[in-house]
Amino acid sequence: MVAGSAVVMALAQMGSLNALEQTQGHRFWHTWLERCRVPSADVMGTSFRSLDCAGLRRMLRHLYSRLKRNKALHPVFSDNLFALVIDGHESSASYLRSCKKCLQREVKTAKGTKIQYSHRLVMAVLLCRDFPLLLDLEMQLPGEDEVATATRLMQRMFLHYPRAFDVVLADGLYARAPFFNTITAHGKEVIAVLKDDRRDLMQDAVALFSQHQPIVFRHNKVSRQCWDMEGFTTWPQVAKEVRVVGSLETTTVCRQKTGKSEELLSRWMWVSTIGKQIAPTESFVLTAHGRWEIENKGFNELTTYWHANHVYKHTIGAIEAFWLITMLAYTLFHAFITLNLKPIIREAYTKLHLARLVSAELYAGSPRCHSP
Ligand SMILES: [Zn+2]
Repeated sequence: MVAGSAVVMALAQMGSLNALEQTQGHRFWHTWLERCRVPSADVMGTSFRSLDCAGLRRMLRHLYSRLKRNKALHPVFSDNLFALVIDGHESSASYLRSCKKCLQREVKTAKGTKIQYSHRLVMAVLLCRDFPLLLDLEMQLPGEDEVATATRLMQRMFLHYPRAFDVVLADGLYARAPFFNTITAHGKEVIAVLKDDRRDLMQDAVALFSQHQPIVFRHNKVSRQCWDMEGFTTWPQVAKEVRVVGSLETTTVCRQKTGKSEELLSRWMWVSTIGKQIAPTESFVLTAHGRWEIENKGFNELTTYWHANHVYKHTIGAIEAFWLITMLAYTLFHAFITLNLKPIIREAYTKLHLARLVSAELYAGSPRCHSP
């Protein structure tokens, strides 16, 4: 009852247990709960501290299995390469409220150094053509870094989603030998942003790139010059030889203020274990950029519209449970839009409009509206 009510709250994008409680008696609940009552905001908050997160994860797995069985999942940039994005996110931060499992950091303010309390999580997201599939998350614990949290999450991914993905995408923080070795030991490949802290490998790659002509291609408004070489042994701690791909990208943008076109330059470098025969240069670069999509669009949508950062009850268990509930609601909503609505309706309305219709359904049967 608590989890079901919370899924409805998340689907309606309410972001408030009190707002949910105020829908008590609406026609919607009579239909779905028969004579039962919606739990109060207090009961919801308290119950979430001990909600069964393993059960919520089972529901996420069930959703994945159904979508897979119905052939509703398609890779984004390649016919046969499913990419799993691993990314960290700070879900809340406060100077006032804390719990035993809060992360702590010192922040220098005008009034001196203060302790800030926060919670962070690492999420595993499957990149799919129609919508990203949020598969699982792991809360970061005090005293551990993001990569350790991600490694714990990956162990569960190997167990629960052994055939769901082929390659793991991660940012520069994850370009560490133990993480690479963990992924490859399970038969998967990995792509991570290459940064200065792998100086030897980067210098090696830049020196070799300068002796070769780039591969040039264009995708939408971005033209790319790419260098792509395999067989690097400059990172001996990694069990396999690695591949390094560099991309010099020119994006043409039209400035609203002046109406003039402008070219923006950016440079990217990735280190990977995946071979060219599996991911040729163009699909490699487009797939590698998929991580950026999740960071900028996925988490942005989750926090702006789905209120995923809202702390309904400040315990690590409750925060984890609410995030898993939001992931369930997000997946249900996007699966419904993609698979159940006719294309003509999908094209006519934005997802925000459709989300508001879901919310309106919950309020439609207000006792006051329908009182004689
Ligand atoms: Zn806390």
